Amino acid sequence: MDYYSSKITALIEEFSRLPGIGAKTAQRLAFHVVSMPEDKVKRLADALMEAKGGVRYCKECYTLTDTELCPICASEKRDHSTIMVVETTRDLAAYEKTGRYEGVYHVLHGAISPALGIGPSDIRLKELMTRLQGDVKEVIIATNSSLEGETTAMYIAKLIKPTGIKVTRIASGVPVGGDLEYIDEVTLLRALEGRTEL
Ligand code: ZN
Repeated sequence: MDYYSSKITALIEEFSRLPGIGAKTAQRLAFHVVSMPEDKVKRLADALMEAKGGVRYCKECYTLTDTELCPICASEKRDHSTIMVVETTRDLAAYEKTGRYEGVYHVLHGAISPALGIGPSDIRLKELMTRLQGDVKEVIIATNSSLEGETTAMYIAKLIKPTGIKVTRIASGVPVGGDLEYIDEVTLLRALEGRTEL
């Protein structure tokens, strides 16, 4: 039986498909939205569509951005010869929050996982290798310390070694399987400063 209007039920269903949103929260959000003034609902809907439509990959580091070149890649203040390789844009954001990393990034958008059928060609690895033809002094591998993250780190290290470019791996201390995003800044900085050459 439909307790609410079918439109509200549909909205609840949409909310409950989002990560971290349970049935109760979905219900609360849906009722909140229908009680909002129309102009505010429109602003929310516009923001959703804008974000989806306007976001693209930076042509250099492949992070999500709304310009051809992300602000980090476009900045002359950053050290473009040091590239930190991360799995996601969220990981990049976590390092950026520390405000202490001066190099640039490369976002893989995933990690190699034989179990899930994700191979090297399914992440932005080829793009990373292309970047290495430029003036690069160090590649810091900051993939997660999960099995997939470690597999990816080893794979990348093996690819880069023959080029003679220095390859380092952030220190462990980043909890296994832990999303970099949720790790405090002190731990991230320690992991970065304690990186070792592979
Ligand atoms: Zn970029």
